[in-house]
Amino acid sequence: MDHFLYRDGALYAEDVPVAEIAAAVGTPFYVYSTATLLRHYRLFDEALDGVPHLVCYAMKAAGNLAILKTLAEAGAGMDVVSQGEYLRARAAGVPGEKIVFSGVGKTAEEMRTALTGGIRQFNVESEPEMELLNAVALSLGTVAPITIRVNPDVDAKTHAKIATGKSENKFGIPISRARAVYAHAARLPGLKVVGIDVHIGSQLTDLAPFEQAYAKVAELTEALRADGHGIDRLDLGGGLGIPYTRSNVAPPLPTDYGAMIKRTLGHLGCEIEIEPGRLIAGNAGLLVSSVIFVKSGEGRDFLILDAAMNDLIRPAMYDAHHDIIPVVEPAPGTEQRPYDVVGPVCETGDTFARGRDLPPVKSGDLVAFRSAGAYGAAMASEYNARPLVPEVLVKGDQFAVIRRRPTFDEMINRDSLPSWL
Ligand SMILES: *Cc1c(COP(=O)(O)O)cnc(C)c1O
Repeated sequence: MDHFLYRDGALYAEDVPVAEIAAAVGTPFYVYSTATLLRHYRLFDEALDGVPHLVCYAMKAAGNLAILKTLAEAGAGMDVVSQGEYLRARAAGVPGEKIVFSGVGKTAEEMRTALTGGIRQFNVESEPEMELLNAVALSLGTVAPITIRVNPDVDAKTHAKIATGKSENKFGIPISRARAVYAHAARLPGLKVVGIDVHIGSQLTDLAPFEQAYAKVAELTEALRADGHGIDRLDLGGGLGIPYTRSNVAPPLPTDYGAMIKRTLGHLGCEIEIEPGRLIAGNAGLLVSSVIFVKSGEGRDFLILDAAMNDLIRPAMYDAHHDIIPVVEPAPGTEQRPYDVVGPVCETGDTFARGRDLPPVKSGDLVAFRSAGAYGAAMASEYNARPLVPEVLVKGDQFAVIRRRPTFDEMINRDSLPSWL
């Protein structure tokens, strides 16, 4: 559920007409709904009611400070994957003890920043990382709290580029080696083992792979405890999928996910951490764009938008589907016709949809990509020297620009010329 609905024939973001934002900031732009962000965060929080838990928002999905602060004020922790994300989370007011640090390639500098600034735990992904973190912690005279990310060798049944829990993926240590690796960690005085971490992929639409992975984590918890390790915390990762179309069967709800977690792991008495990203931000954001031209081709019509693959890469990168809707609600019974929806970037991959049925549109009309809040602005680039898209946050009847569009001068002046030129 989200808060982008038609009202009196016009698309609204909560209580603000989307066309009004477009007039104020120009297109393309991203717009997020505070109410939707909070609703999704709370669904997870409530789903884990009755067990000690922390919902750590995976901020790589959408990392604008205003989004982070909105969620942090509701009680969310953060899952970060780089020094930049760590510093963003801190800048948004998230205390270190609510930040978990994930990622396969943390550098010594990143470790130092988090250890001095405060951190809940590092989710360590390899033995070399363990050794480096141990050395960095000792050099600072401190001890780093860690979980070790295990790779459960489970097929997440999602797009290959976002599956992370099979043995051929780069993530975590093979679960079969976990006992040896935990023994290694216990010998390093700069580390303190606090739990286990697992994350098997993104946009999962079935609970079965999660349950398989979590059952393996439950078994491992018992084995590691028997070996003498203090396993008090289970970080279960993110990955629950969202409905990208209204016609498809909806993925499981956070409530079902929470119930499954309690059923599979509740008896262990551990604190549970989850790291949802997409499900919190995905349906809380739209990408709004204008039609530049409608161009008739051979046997097809192209809808050429002012948004492109650099603004929303998911269709080009993951063959992802986004519903595209007009900002002016079509009259009931309006006949639809198929369009190839494309951007202006000079690549054939800059195609959002092929043969998509839409009500007739013309140059200057506004359209919105639904479910664009996660991995949208976060993955945007300036390819083709197109300025990064601005971001807007709506709350009730208010809206604010939370990242403005850079000027062309700002973009150009980031480059510098060598003295010999
Ligand atoms: C990307 C990622 C997440 C979030 O995944 P979603 O599918 O957006 O919920 C959580 N944890 C880790 C370690 C990740 O890499």
